[in-house]
Amino acid sequence: QTPLALAVATTSTTCPYCGVGCGVSASMKDDGRIGIQGDAQHPANFGRLCVKGSALGETVDLDGRLLHPQLRDAQGQLQQLAWDQALDHVASKFSAIIAEHGPDAVALYVSGQLLTEDYYIANKLMKGYIGSANIDTNSRLCMSSAVAGHKRAFGEDLVPVCYEDLELADLVVLVGSNAAWCHPILFQRIARLKETRPALRLVVIDPRRTATCELADLHLPIKPGTDVWLFNGLMSYLAHRGLRDNAFIEAHTKGFDEALAVADADCADPATVARLCKIDLKDLLAFYEAFANTEKVVTGFSMGVNQSSAGTDKVNSIINCHLATGRIGKPGMGPFSITGQPNAMGGREVGGLANMLAAHMDLDQPLHRQIVQDFWQSPRIADKPGLKAVDMFRAIEEGRIKAVWIMATNPMVSLPDADLVQRALQKCELVVSSDVITQTDTNALAHVLLPALAWGEKDGTVTNSERRISRQRAFLSAPGEARGDWRIICDVARRMGFDGFDFAGPHEIFDEHARLSAHRNGEADASRVRRVFNLAGLTGMDRAAYDALAPIQWPVQRLSDGSVSGTARVLEDHRFSHADGRARFVPTAPRSAAHAACEDYPLILNTGRVRDHWHTMTRTGRSATLASHIPESFIDIHPQDALLYGVREGGLARISSRWGAMVARVQHGGGIARGSVFVPIHWNGQSASDARVGAVVNPVVDPVSGEPEFKHTPVAIEEFRVS
Ligand code: SF4
Repeated sequence: QTPLALAVATTSTTCPYCGVGCGVSASMKDDGRIGIQGDAQHPANFGRLCVKGSALGETVDLDGRLLHPQLRDAQGQLQQLAWDQALDHVASKFSAIIAEHGPDAVALYVSGQLLTEDYYIANKLMKGYIGSANIDTNSRLCMSSAVAGHKRAFGEDLVPVCYEDLELADLVVLVGSNAAWCHPILFQRIARLKETRPALRLVVIDPRRTATCELADLHLPIKPGTDVWLFNGLMSYLAHRGLRDNAFIEAHTKGFDEALAVADADCADPATVARLCKIDLKDLLAFYEAFANTEKVVTGFSMGVNQSSAGTDKVNSIINCHLATGRIGKPGMGPFSITGQPNAMGGREVGGLANMLAAHMDLDQPLHRQIVQDFWQSPRIADKPGLKAVDMFRAIEEGRIKAVWIMATNPMVSLPDADLVQRALQKCELVVSSDVITQTDTNALAHVLLPALAWGEKDGTVTNSERRISRQRAFLSAPGEARGDWRIICDVARRMGFDGFDFAGPHEIFDEHARLSAHRNGEADASRVRRVFNLAGLTGMDRAAYDALAPIQWPVQRLSDGSVSGTARVLEDHRFSHADGRARFVPTAPRSAAHAACEDYPLILNTGRVRDHWHTMTRTGRSATLASHIPESFIDIHPQDALLYGVREGGLARISSRWGAMVARVQHGGGIARGSVFVPIHWNGQSASDARVGAVVNPVVDPVSGEPEFKHTPVAIEEFRVS
């Protein structure tokens, strides 16, 4: 059964999967099914969709949908109850816990799947009204190292480039990114270009030989975790061969000499770097020479860089090389963080992380706190960073946080040390989950389930990897009693006695968000020269204007003739957001992953996505088309390692770490080096065998960003026999 269509006409909306943010045209077919096509007008995809986007119509049925609020009774059974009762229950329990234990005893754990308006309201409730910054997001798991790296280098979380820059570049370097599977339409844009412009070169830096490597002119199968050595070596190479841009460094940056001294300390000799990174010296020099001698270079990076205990340093070691050559803020050049989720960027705009404030303001700046509190007219404002995702669940397990409200995410599967998450939720006094389906590993432990609208039913905006804001538009009616996330949060906030949550719809929330960005930019801000993020051109939209909003890249200005203008590329004036307007080189001393392989755990576990599934499969698991690509979880291992450890292709094996274990089928995918195994992140504990790889992953995080080290956990492997 599918929800009823709201309109016969085609609706333009946005794909809810990866950060490419493709435009989708949805329509109701004569047979009652939903027709999905790429939106030819959308600048992210110009009509193309990958297999996940094309199969969206198979995922909108009502099987398993959470349609009514539910409360777990004393016997552990879920019982349906009215919305008013459910909202009263959540509001009164949150209020009572705050009254007894203080605001830091509650937490919100949200998601890059939320729309910007949902995110904005959740952040406002927590930081401005409850008065704690204990709100974090599953985007912490995928791009927070990029955010921290941008802030250190540029003074603000800025992605300088746009998708068109990939097409203008003569050299595209992809680091820790299997774009062919994880950002397929972006990859297809590069692939098409390579057909017509043979001079375009692609270098892929990845420990695995992935599908992306099939298009590469050069693949560097780097030893896991050695990226900083590689890019420090590049910086040193550029600096000592007269290939740096001295005029740019002098005029627009600070800290070059310090960063170079650190790079030189370990990485001045390419032969040493090649040995440490386990790369053929000839290939390493080919990469260095290509980077040095090509003016138009875009370096795209993704989870292989971010998901590391040195993730922020990895990001900065890449940015350092672009700053050293002045290759930033110009067509076809720049470092490019390719985000994983559809609205990871939107969440950053509204401060949906435990260490940020709305509109790119900083929680640790008293003036910024004052600006936001004055704008909200809120009774209080959080005055210190909250707990980041991993620490948040640790605090729940230790009893310091007594109530958690989880929105649109499944931490029982997706967080590292997922068995600790299980223990935390089992102990927690109140677990609330807003979700679209009933049965998930997390919902099995929730006390209250609140039915939220799914993709196709909700209205709002998302921002993709190139800062482009696009509308998600409802084309299906709300099934059962499901409500928008923003509305559920506002309903609870009002019941907690808070003003400031009366909105007629997402358009009014977006307007407040846009006005805050403009208001902040109008303030005399002694601590910062300026901020780039600004939606001044999008303030004052009524519902009709908001409904008609075409995709646009921030910052957005209104021109003197009343029209609105977005910005494809930022930092073109080379004025950065640090107080002196200069970018910072960040010294990045190389360090190894937190846990090395050892006798007990001799293999390194790497985790990641497969082509046709998304996150914990709550949506893509419903599509027969998508399931046919890879039907079950697997452990990819080199054949010689398989022989060594007594596991065989096609058989079941158990991998275990100091933190937990999981079982999956062994395969030889052909792309894995000796000493490593790869397991996809998607499979959950809802099937016969618990295939949550999160249970195995170590919970070490980057000290700056708090992003977990998903790519480097020492594990053991053994044959698994069903008893
Ligand atoms: Fe959706 Fe990403 Fe595929 Fe585009 S590339 S259709 S955004 S999953």
